[in-house]
Amino acid sequence: MDERFILKVEDLTVSFDGFKAVDHLSFYVEPNECRVIIGPNGAGKTTVLDLICGRTKATEGSVVFKGKELLAMREDQIVHAGVGRKFQTPSVYEDLTVFENLELSYPKGHGVFGALAFKRDETVRARIKEIAQTIFLDGQLDEKAAFLSHGQKQWLEIGMLLIQDPELLMLDEPVAGMSVAERKKIAELLNRIIQDRSVIVIEHDMGFVADIATRVTVLHQGKTLSEGTMDRVQNDPKVVEVYLGH
Ligand code: ADP
Repeated sequence: MDERFILKVEDLTVSFDGFKAVDHLSFYVEPNECRVIIGPNGAGKTTVLDLICGRTKATEGSVVFKGKELLAMREDQIVHAGVGRKFQTPSVYEDLTVFENLELSYPKGHGVFGALAFKRDETVRARIKEIAQTIFLDGQLDEKAAFLSHGQKQWLEIGMLLIQDPELLMLDEPVAGMSVAERKKIAELLNRIIQDRSVIVIEHDMGFVADIATRVTVLHQGKTLSEGTMDRVQNDPKVVEVYLGH
């Protein structure tokens, strides 16, 4: 396996009734990278994440994650392989506390009994506290999710993914509907997350993209229009023409 890349997407294609929403797309993600996918509405961004997480079946191509072909796997197997996906709308359990939401998401191991179960309990607690700290909610562990702000619910949902320890996290517009202060915190959170995992983010807010992106892929009509650092992509005349220039 080529260790340089954690994810290799090659010739990824999906057709809906003959319309190619994603058209022979290739890109490679390195460990500790935050790849941001931008592009006009309908460019195929969400479909790319749907294909990687197994929600939508590809027509052709390959998606290799840590040496394993994901296109041959079911959605739950892909999660198990270490790929987490967060959708646009937060889906936390409103009636449960922050602690309970994180506890429910903790991966269930094989049966443990008696003293071992107690020990495991302590491990789970410690992990929940660690994650709560990472997502800025360690002061609200006993708060019901219903009372959190929209931004805090999004952080909690990211925490619910992090507790499963994915090596690749995919987020669809994580700052939509957030305050400026909450956006800053998400940027800080993503910069923390990529210390030991990779992230793919779909984003529209260019200021936020500049704060988080290691590299940017600009999608247009299901294909890569441009790719590279934010600076490179922003100054690419093709991008200015179809995306930034209106
Ligand atoms: P983006 O996220 O960049 O706005 P999408 O990935 O949501 O774009 O959609 C890309 C194109 O594929 C759009 O034209 C959309 O209508 C189409 N599309 C997405 N999913 C389906 C589907 N399940 N069936 C038919 N067309 C779809």
